[in-house]
Amino acid sequence: MSTSIQGGPSLPQERKLVTAIPGPKSQEILARKNAAVASGVGVALPVSIVAAGGGVLVDVDGNSLIDLGSGIAVTGVGNSAPRVVEAVKQQVEQFTHTCFTVTPYEGYIAVSEKLNELIPGDFEKRSALFNSGAEAVENAIKVARHYTGRNAVVVFDHAYHGRTNLTMGMPAKNIPYKDGFGPFAPEVYRVPTSYPYRDGLSGAEAAANAISQIDKQVGFNNVAAVIIEPIQGEGGFIAPAPGVLPALQQWANEQGIVFILDEVQTGFARTGDMFAAQHEGVVADIVTTAKGIAGGLPLSAVTGRADIMDSAHAGGLGGTYAGNPIACAAALATIETYEAENLTERANQIGAVITEFFTTLQQSDDRIGDIRGRGAMQAIELVESGSKAPNPALTGAIAKFAADNGVLVLTCGTYGNVIRFLPALAISDELLLEGLQVVADALAAN
Ligand SMILES: *Cc1c(COP(=O)(O)O)cnc(C)c1O
Repeated sequence: MSTSIQGGPSLPQERKLVTAIPGPKSQEILARKNAAVASGVGVALPVSIVAAGGGVLVDVDGNSLIDLGSGIAVTGVGNSAPRVVEAVKQQVEQFTHTCFTVTPYEGYIAVSEKLNELIPGDFEKRSALFNSGAEAVENAIKVARHYTGRNAVVVFDHAYHGRTNLTMGMPAKNIPYKDGFGPFAPEVYRVPTSYPYRDGLSGAEAAANAISQIDKQVGFNNVAAVIIEPIQGEGGFIAPAPGVLPALQQWANEQGIVFILDEVQTGFARTGDMFAAQHEGVVADIVTTAKGIAGGLPLSAVTGRADIMDSAHAGGLGGTYAGNPIACAAALATIETYEAENLTERANQIGAVITEFFTTLQQSDDRIGDIRGRGAMQAIELVESGSKAPNPALTGAIAKFAADNGVLVLTCGTYGNVIRFLPALAISDELLLEGLQVVADALAAN
């Protein structure tokens, strides 16, 4: 294995294929994966990565791929971003772990202070840190139940919230998340939401539908929490019609229901604001964050109103690794990078490039049914020509063509017919456009 490849941002920002994808060395490693790793752990693109930075992934065969997924919206600041590398190096030399709930350290507290400051809401807040997005969602619900003394949790069509037992009952998609993995946790209720491309409802209509179903099926007085992604991620980058989120927020507040925004995928500059809720001035009681928080180190957070968050007794929240000191150091450096490099602005520029590119292409290809998203969280929904029938076959073919040609794109959507673009905010316009052109070539070839 080459040791001369420099990690991080010093990698040449180029698409360069020196073998077929996957190359021979990747194939050898993937054969070992098949023999050693449980089959349930699938891979989207079967190459073995040795370095990544800016907008590229470099594999073991020396191929340089354009990365339009950033590890599912995690490495927003770029892979091995300089501030993150420096902070991690310093922390790893000081100490790697104490368990915060045994003997605390300042990094955890500093991350909490920063989140309390950044997350919308002009009130006193508290945060608690965890390892994964699912764990943050679980803990947000624990807190909401403890605070309200109620059990029911309301989720929405097209939702995703994770893969642990409680959160596995929350996604609206059977394959791959739930099939054969039940029984699921009780007291999770699903109601319709808003899918502007497909339902044509106004925000007021969609919110009224949801609230009416909650009333009939659950009863407001039984609901501990309503949880919603401000833009649904795995469900297909569906931004609800304007007005849905403010209406739900207002109704939840009136009913003493904890309003939780799951910003695990949308948070941290991704959508062109630090948090997607800012777009409509929505203020949640609790916000869950993870993915973009720490430049690739595992960390998640629950941040909310002090009275709600403080309602859980001491010892009720925590976990051995929760808020690991290295992950906290990385988070502080990552958040500093978003702010110092003005990456919300950059996310909007990236969004404009993607939107313009596909708007032009759509004029000559009506299989691009919808182009949507905000900031650097953009998607195209692919349909059969002349209709809105989902076209998952074309979607898969495009992802495959792109991979074969050195571009990583991720798919998503309840109907499996959405290609999502989540590039690192560190990507150049040039590289981004080169990647998009490969998607256009894929459309032309299919
Ligand atoms: C990814 C995701 C989760 C789960 O996060 P993990 O870190 O994979 O557990 C939860 N909610 C949303 C909106 C996500 O996108």
